[in-house]
Amino acid sequence: MKTILFNLTDGELEQFITQLGQPRFRSKQVREWLNRGAPDFSVMKNLPEDLRNKLSEIAETLPLKIVKRLQSSDNQTTKFLLELNDCEQIECVLMRTTYGNSVCVSSQAGCAMGCKFCASTLLGLKRNLTVNEMFAQVLVAQWELRRDKMRDIKPNGDANNGDVSHIVVMGTGEPLQNTENVIGFLERANTELNISWRRITVSTCGIVPGINELNKWGRPINMAISLHAPDDDLRSQIMPINNKYKLQEVLDAAFAFSDAHNRQLMIEYILLGQKDKNDSVVLYNASEEHANKLSKLLQGHNVMVNLIPWNTVDERDFASISGNAVHRFQDILIKNGVHTRIRRERGADIGSACGQLRLKNAKDKK
Ligand code: SF4
Repeated sequence: MKTILFNLTDGELEQFITQLGQPRFRSKQVREWLNRGAPDFSVMKNLPEDLRNKLSEIAETLPLKIVKRLQSSDNQTTKFLLELNDCEQIECVLMRTTYGNSVCVSSQAGCAMGCKFCASTLLGLKRNLTVNEMFAQVLVAQWELRRDKMRDIKPNGDANNGDVSHIVVMGTGEPLQNTENVIGFLERANTELNISWRRITVSTCGIVPGINELNKWGRPINMAISLHAPDDDLRSQIMPINNKYKLQEVLDAAFAFSDAHNRQLMIEYILLGQKDKNDSVVLYNASEEHANKLSKLLQGHNVMVNLIPWNTVDERDFASISGNAVHRFQDILIKNGVHTRIRRERGADIGSACGQLRLKNAKDKK
């Protein structure tokens, strides 16, 4: 088994390098490359060639490697399928926006939550990710941005300095089932990569004790709640977690978090349709009545509702609804005084909905 250098402490790395008959300063050079996200040793051009070759034989740089890299046609979104040391696979997405570069990080390999619209949960939960495995996803994205610079691809807008500036823990997995490691990862991202708390978002399907733990942790990050239904009956049908933590209980914990940290709460709401017997699409959670109910839950709170038109997942029994229906839903929320926006589809041509790439790859392997 090759040694993963990123997982070594500075002292351990120095010992590893000096045991190869190299001077100590080489370990500092290697560390600098690792911190930039170097995918292999061949890029470490300030090391002697024989050392690079030796390291390639006995070591890996990061605790994960890129299996697939998909670039959207507008070049703004790159999706990575990554393989961990034990061959589990995860996804990570880099989004280049006018306000900065954002990385969507996975917190678990697979997911146990069983949401009925989601591809990430179809293979169940494999395991929690470590702090290093989450951190390394950001480094993969950072290295990709470095490739942009080398290919003379300019950052997307003046406010974008070409580095990773935002982190959203919204990839595969439920972050608050892995809270300790997520907190460890975010502390490191803040201190080592200088990502400000206000540019970090953790998304949860509604694990109330985890929300309370983040509240106690006390960092002014953003919280996103995957709500997706305006009442307990409907929510329990599509999100089994609602049988454990009821909708109002989740919202109360989330409002307490956003009030305590003076942050606007994000509400994620996937707009779902379903085919009826005549093959026409009926609104599953996106009718006028649903919009009014949702408004009532959120009125008077500092929230932003992100409406997400459903991204087709073949294995899931939902249908996309029309653009008109999406806008009608949004209009009702706005009329009721609830801040709302429609999430721009990013990278739809590369299957950027959570879990799609990993699922496809697992099927292709069979
Ligand atoms: S939506 Fe999130 S919490 Fe629900 S199954 Fe998918 S990854 Fe898990």
